[in-house]
Amino acid sequence: MTILPVIPTSPDQPDAVTTRRRPSMPPRHLADLDLAARKAAVTTLGEPAFRAKQLSTHYFGRLVRDIDAMTDLPAASRERLTGDLLPTLLTPMRELACDDGATRKTLWRLHDGALVESVLMGYPDRVTACVSSQAGCGMACPFCATGQQGLTRNLSVAEIVDQVVYLAGVAASGAVTGSPPRLSRVVFMGMGEPLANYPRVIDAVRRLTEPAPEGLGLSQRHITVSTVGLLPAMRRLIAEELSVTLALSLHAPDDDLRDELVPVNQRWKVAEVLDAAFDYAAQTGRRVSIEYALIRDVNDQPWRADLLGRLLHGKLAHVNLIPLNPTPGSKWDASPKPVEREFVRRLRDAGVATTVRDTRGREIDGACGQLAAGELTEAAAGGAADAEVAQ
Ligand code: SAH
Repeated sequence: MTILPVIPTSPDQPDAVTTRRRPSMPPRHLADLDLAARKAAVTTLGEPAFRAKQLSTHYFGRLVRDIDAMTDLPAASRERLTGDLLPTLLTPMRELACDDGATRKTLWRLHDGALVESVLMGYPDRVTACVSSQAGCGMACPFCATGQQGLTRNLSVAEIVDQVVYLAGVAASGAVTGSPPRLSRVVFMGMGEPLANYPRVIDAVRRLTEPAPEGLGLSQRHITVSTVGLLPAMRRLIAEELSVTLALSLHAPDDDLRDELVPVNQRWKVAEVLDAAFDYAAQTGRRVSIEYALIRDVNDQPWRADLLGRLLHGKLAHVNLIPLNPTPGSKWDASPKPVEREFVRRLRDAGVATTVRDTRGREIDGACGQLAAGELTEAAAGGAADAEVAQ
């Protein structure tokens, strides 16, 4: 593990270890707005409308987040624009790298002292950003570090987008050893439940996928939104007609156990959320990813593999098994490898495509459920992020 030096972007701010204020939404940032609204905003500030495109080209096209580096803008304009369109939203507190520099985790402090994390994962053919959509999470899944923490607040559109723009800049600098310099995928598998912050996450997806200078120009298919299964929001997502990849965190094929592992199941049952996931797949023509954290003697029995196989047989779905990453103090552990192999075998025998997710970032607590920032604050922020969704 390497601890990378952190250059504070706001040296005037007091040490964040002790500063946690009342949760509040951050100031507006250009990434909150579409290009038309950015034009309106710059003219309100007394600047010519073309500045909107200029700022946007810097931010989305060249991944420049700091207005002082936009040297083709007159100093007076920079001063006028910075507070209203480019406030600092994310202050890096700590950056860690492992897997020979191919995995990097950033812990951020937000303007109100809340902490969130993002992870950048490099592969030979692609670079993936795992981002947070909320500070904390209200879903209370007992095996997940963020679930233990409760919800602090939703992130703004720009707080989400800025994580990606930052990580795209890191990739572009060539810092991710052995990977292409272009960030190509984003997974909403960091802290939070993306569909509980629905309008902002959808807006962020639009910003990430619109071509520069409007947005970052990523492909919708290369964006994965992961959910515990908030049924009304899943139905709403179907109606958006986006082509993002949907991941459903199932973790149990039966309601008895899922009620415990994913408490929202007490409201929306396995059959209902699977139906919505299959409808999404039918509409987009893209396989949904069924996430299943294998927990020793809890959900890893052969009969559960068979039941899952029956539920998914013939559907446009594949299973992504995640070896449980035990959270501190948890009574649960990952399944032994032979049990995992048997689970995979049974699913494949049922004709269900199945992969076992790699365990990227465990060394830096950057794997699923483990984005723990507890070391930095007594209020112990924590997080869930994730390794990679095998496509
Ligand atoms: N709230 C969203 C995204 C959060 S995390 C969701 O639940 O889908 C992304 C994935 O990591 C989810 O499938 C989540 O259940 C899983 N996860 C969380 N904690 C984990 C842990 N300790 N070990 C393995 N997977 C975990």
